[in-house]
Amino acid sequence: MDHYLVVGNPVEHSKSPWIHARFAELTGQQLHYGKLLVAPGDFEHAVNAFRAQGGKGCNVTVPFKFDAAMLATQTTPRALLAGACNTLRFEGSEVFADNTDGIGLVNDIVSNAGVKLAGKDLLLIGAGGAASGVLGPLIEARPRRIAVANRTQAKAEVLIERHSELAGVHGVQLSAPELGLLQGTFEVVINATASSLAGEGVPIAPHVLERKALAVDLMYGPAARGFMDWAQAHGAVPRDGLGMLVEQAAEAFLFWRGVRPPSAQVLAELRATLSSPA
Ligand code: NAP
Repeated sequence: MDHYLVVGNPVEHSKSPWIHARFAELTGQQLHYGKLLVAPGDFEHAVNAFRAQGGKGCNVTVPFKFDAAMLATQTTPRALLAGACNTLRFEGSEVFADNTDGIGLVNDIVSNAGVKLAGKDLLLIGAGGAASGVLGPLIEARPRRIAVANRTQAKAEVLIERHSELAGVHGVQLSAPELGLLQGTFEVVINATASSLAGEGVPIAPHVLERKALAVDLMYGPAARGFMDWAQAHGAVPRDGLGMLVEQAAEAFLFWRGVRPPSAQVLAELRATLSSPA
């Protein structure tokens, strides 16, 4: 039996053990997936202890995604660009690292929500760990432009600077406008801030929403309700972060096991379990 973990703080609420157990069941893989609460400053020691016991890999969540990147001996290009990792795989002395958050979000939008990103105008709100992880894969989906707006504008400027070469390769316009002075409308709006998590208001004005825009909050569960209700009230199509959660897990499962699980089925089952409609 191969062992995996989700490591974070807090971690009690994590749906990852349920998701990976279901993936394993549906693909006939023999594995056990647990969760580990780690104190700040104890990440490296905790992960090395798990490796010493024969652990095969782990998912990494808040606040350790940057620490995970430091442990890697080999890092995928998308994780290098993000500067943060959410998936580690252990093979002998090697630690392979990936960041599956962005491809998870793109797969959820394109495959589960059925919304094409190519040629669209996107607004990404935030410039923290989640926004860093999703910007590269969003660029690779070839929208027309992506505006990255963050409360601290300088952080958004650093983020777009780091991604400027990739944006050039894919012909995507990148900008970092001031959050309070956004102009024009966007067909896809992604809230990658911690505003919902913190129970604070939606950080943008509704005029940026194109009619029937897709408005995604990376948060899920009751905390995402405020953003979802706001989006719906202003003519947008709301979506929470549950699909991204399942899709990033599916990419992690593929990274570990070489098998892609049926993520859409597992997302439908998880929504039914949580009575979470979108
Ligand atoms: P983080 O690194 O702490 O970054 C927080 C970001 O939110 C920063 O850009 C911060 O702006 C901004 N912010 C915080 N409070 C705000 C407010 N009241 N108004 C406007 N902006 C605010 O956090 P993170 O790791 O990026 O996580 C962000 C969210 O994504 C969390 O809700 C997390 O649960 C979610 N997430 C979901 C998934 C999934 O699979 N569904 C995966 C990853 C993350 P400043 O720079 O100005 O401080």
